[in-house]
Amino acid sequence: MAKDALIIVDVQNDFCEGGALEVVGAAEILAIINRLMSKFELVIATQDYHPPDHCSFDLWPPHCIAGTEGAELHKGIMVDRIKHFVKKGTLENKEAYSGFQETDLSSFLKSRGVKTIYLCGLATDYCVKATALDGLTEGFKVFVILDAIRAVSKETGGAALKEMEDRGVEFVRSDSWETT
Ligand SMILES: [Zn+2]
Repeated sequence: MAKDALIIVDVQNDFCEGGALEVVGAAEILAIINRLMSKFELVIATQDYHPPDHCSFDLWPPHCIAGTEGAELHKGIMVDRIKHFVKKGTLENKEAYSGFQETDLSSFLKSRGVKTIYLCGLATDYCVKATALDGLTEGFKVFVILDAIRAVSKETGGAALKEMEDRGVEFVRSDSWETT
């Protein structure tokens, strides 16, 4: 039974180059994530998946609207390797940065005996951070893969890394697997 899982957070068109809420450098992590996928038996992807009038659009430009191209995973990601997709932020009046929030992610992982999760994706300062912290709360050992994430801003990204570290998230780099 798999004990480790790779969770790809929100690598969706709207968060990539040309998207409604582009995260600078998102394109740089696609190849890294594809390589990482080959190291894990269990790969899961989360998706921001909002109704057209989602409450978060007061704060952010409209993005990742359910059923649109912007909500799809970037075509540079090898989706056929992904075993489970988690859609979040689907309720009009509730924001969900975390992949654990009102989804089956925790029960899915636990049902497969997963104890440790490795996170990559977008964005460090919002959905990666929230998913990492909720992962700890759910009792998982949480690693964030430092070269496979990108932040909305350098400042909040740095603060997010510090907060995650303080809470007990551990960090690793993708080349940790290269020699194994
Ligand atoms: Zn969103």
